[in-house]
Amino acid sequence: MMETVLRQGLEDLSLPLEGVPALVRYAGMLAEKNQVMNLTAITDPLDVARLHFLDSAALLTLADFRGKAVVDVGTGAGFPGLPLRIVEPSIHLTLLDAQRKRVDFLREVCGGLDLDDVECVHERAEVFAAERRETFDIAVSRAVAALPVLAELCLPLVKVGGQFLAMKSVDSGEELSAAGRAVSLLGGKLEKPIDYGISGTNIRHRLVIITKICETQKKYPRTFAKIKKNPL
Ligand code: SAM
Repeated sequence: MMETVLRQGLEDLSLPLEGVPALVRYAGMLAEKNQVMNLTAITDPLDVARLHFLDSAALLTLADFRGKAVVDVGTGAGFPGLPLRIVEPSIHLTLLDAQRKRVDFLREVCGGLDLDDVECVHERAEVFAAERRETFDIAVSRAVAALPVLAELCLPLVKVGGQFLAMKSVDSGEELSAAGRAVSLLGGKLEKPIDYGISGTNIRHRLVIITKICETQKKYPRTFAKIKKNPL
């Protein structure tokens, strides 16, 4: 049944179906590990298919990921990065999370699915930026922080000319307005957001698109304590 939902959903998005068996195996590993550690509150297999996998895969229809170096900041159990990489294998993916146990789980999944080239990094984004500043074509992120904070965590990682894509709810209008100053201070430009539907549901989500138009000043990102206490 999960397989049918995934096939139908990917077909609706005009995306290839070759990744379906890997997504089903990933769902199995997620369900098993979720018994012993908190990875996701979404446990019904069809909800996992729609709210995790198809929600993530929808991004492939909204931006060009082919052959790109992509970092998923605060990936948790792998969303949206891993479904993106499974459906679009040309992506060079880095999964980044501050929680070691989650990164250990991601390494197990990548091992189980023979995704040897996926980099799983246990680090805080604001620390990782010192090492891999402006080296990614695309940063993606879902459900990690409000946009002014998230922009400071993600934009320093993106090359000039690249994109930061933030997955948000459709009522993120105020958050978006509040982020304008932070985005421009960090070298970004807010593009028109795109609302999209998740196949098989009435749910609509929003992709906030930020283009990196100039280098981020070296003083960003600040420490997380400063980012949190005084968002840009
Ligand atoms: N993106 C996943 C999703 O949509 O299912 C996970 C969302 S979960 C609510 C937030 C994740 O962000 C957690 O796994 C947390 O460890 C991670 N996180 C929060 N702040 C972070 C930071 N500064 N650097 C790296 N990871 C961070």
